[in-house]
Amino acid sequence: DPQSEAQRALDGPLFSGLPGDIEVSFEFFPPKTDKMGETLWRSVETLAPLAPRFASVTYGAGGSTRARTHDQVVRIQNEAGIPAAAHLTCVEATREEVDEVARHYWEAGIRHIVALRGDPPDGASRYTPHPGGYANAAELIAGLKNVADFEISVAAYPECHPDSPDAQADLDNLKRKFDAGATRAITQFFFEPDCFFAFRDRAAGAGISGEIVPGVMPVMSFAAVQRMAGLCGTAIPPWMEGLFEGLDERPEARQLVSATIAAELCRRLYAGGVRQFHFYTLNRAELSYAICHLLGLRPKEHG
Ligand code: FAD
Repeated sequence: DPQSEAQRALDGPLFSGLPGDIEVSFEFFPPKTDKMGETLWRSVETLAPLAPRFASVTYGAGGSTRARTHDQVVRIQNEAGIPAAAHLTCVEATREEVDEVARHYWEAGIRHIVALRGDPPDGASRYTPHPGGYANAAELIAGLKNVADFEISVAAYPECHPDSPDAQADLDNLKRKFDAGATRAITQFFFEPDCFFAFRDRAAGAGISGEIVPGVMPVMSFAAVQRMAGLCGTAIPPWMEGLFEGLDERPEARQLVSATIAAELCRRLYAGGVRQFHFYTLNRAELSYAICHLLGLRPKEHG
């Protein structure tokens, strides 16, 4: 039963064998060069046998990757056979322009959008909506639902979005996104399981019953994660800095440490009842693959 499964996940020796009764999804970003494109595609092909429920492709600031995001999303769905989701933001675009992008996705057979407000373009510190555009993600969702009946995922912030006056306002905003038609929220990355559990409890308390999937960021470069965490308000636990100390020039050791940290986070989330995981792959398959494997997931037979 789930109770004893949870206990076993925590009490047993590290990865005494989880049953693999989880669902995963993978996030990629659109490649800038042919070489990066090859890396991405190798990663997609490595992860595809894990039968993810979807793979998503991010959207560059201000729509700068519009065509590349579109191409990758369609290719992932058509060639790798993974249901694909396109990230889409409201930045620097009119409603008509955004609707047009969405319509193209629908025509290409893409049925799932990760709907985001987006960040201000480089240099600007505050977000200012485009005068003819959607003001925030909730408005974008309503617009998308008018275009077609997309499945919609949105962003959620266990440690509160930096623009939000307080955690309650941020939660109210998340509720508006579900009310507008989102079926799932994917969280910003975080490193302490309790951070996610507290957020899940507060969301339930606010009347949010939709799915909240933890976004897991395996650390590729600790310096890069520190930078990203600073921008998005994710706390870096003091123990983490200690664990990566001295590993800057030791990529292989660093990868093993990263996999251990992320797998331990996932194991604790699993013990707390989480069965869905979203991985920020940064277009590299190995860490995400290893963590899924430790969680008991095995490749499905093809054909
Ligand atoms: P919103 O939900 O609109 O909210 C943003 C902030 O404004 C929140 O603090 C909210 O509380 C506040 N707010 C919104 N509406 C109101 C209102 N009416 N009144 C008061 N306050 C309000 N960025 C990209 O550019 N491309 C991507 O592909 C991308 N993918 C992402 C994927 C995930 C899983 C996550 C977690 C983030 C992603 N981002 C991406 C980053 C995201 O665009 C930024 O975090 C952005 O600053 C907020 O987007 P949002 O959709 O959460 O905005």
